[in-house]
Amino acid sequence: MGEFELIRHYFRDRVQRSDVRLGPGDDAALLQPRDGCQLVMTMDTLLAGVHFPHDLPPHAIGYRALATNLSDLAAMGADACWCLLSLSLPTINRGWLDGFCNGLFQLADTAGTSLVGGDMVKGPLAITIQATGQLPAGQALLRSGAQDGDIIAIGGAPGEAAAGLKQWQRGQHQGHLVERFCYPEPQLALGKQLRGQAHSCIDISDGLLADLGHILEESGNLGATIRLNQLPTSAALAAAADTEQRIDWQLSGGDDYLLLFTQPASTPLPLGCTAIGEIHTTPGISLIDATGKMHSPHGAGWQHF
Ligand code: ADP
Ligand code: MG
Repeated sequence: MGEFELIRHYFRDRVQRSDVRLGPGDDAALLQPRDGCQLVMTMDTLLAGVHFPHDLPPHAIGYRALATNLSDLAAMGADACWCLLSLSLPTINRGWLDGFCNGLFQLADTAGTSLVGGDMVKGPLAITIQATGQLPAGQALLRSGAQDGDIIAIGGAPGEAAAGLKQWQRGQHQGHLVERFCYPEPQLALGKQLRGQAHSCIDISDGLLADLGHILEESGNLGATIRLNQLPTSAALAAAADTEQRIDWQLSGGDDYLLLFTQPASTPLPLGCTAIGEIHTTPGISLIDATGKMHSPHGAGWQHF
């Protein structure tokens, strides 16, 4: 199968959104944004061995590659509309491509996102996806809007993906935690619900503390208190580790792709969200344990450089 046949078979002849005037096949895609909307763009690269284990099934790789991008759109409060895929493959392996595409399009179809173009090169396994969303002008959720007195809330139970990755590396390739690593769910509906309500928002890719740090810094060097006994803990996570390891995963483990946001204390939280602390003006993050004791955090999350 040649390059063009391959593109046609795997990527081209798919049902597209009605606002895709021209999808894969021409020199570039042609899209029709809604009147009065702003475009929201993001891009993420996944490298084998860095962002996912070499032995992860292609289905999970395809799903995850799109999920990490759509999560960025969710964190802005955007609808996820279109994406581009750049695929670097060492060889043409039909079985691998079948799995990869099934995973990618499973999420694309659920999220209402169309793949409108891309590129293919021969090289080490690497996947880059560029995703574009849209939202009513002026309504984007930014990292920079947190205010003194805001509550800090999270869209689910953190730490599960880090625990799942650890299990995968130890050879345990099944179970709830592994699923959470392989198939993160971008919180698009929550992001949309938070428009006009949250003062600031980010998705947790590098760990709760590290990503909260970005909100604090971008919001004018504010500070935060996190109450450890309020961190949502899933039964699966509690069963997988002792308390210290669990809290470490919850605070510093990446890959959860949950939304972390701040909003006025008086506003009710959306369903499924939990208040875990508050914003204040004294810079830095304080952790308060179940007995009321203060800790300062060590290990601030994953950084590449
Ligand atoms: P060009 O040489 O003009 O850049 P390509 O041969 O790279 O064009 O691509 C031809 C068409 O196929 C383009 O419309 C491109 O968007 C699409 N395409 C190529 N690779 C992919 C891919 N991995 N996924 C989706 N569409 C793709
Ligand atoms: Mg061209």
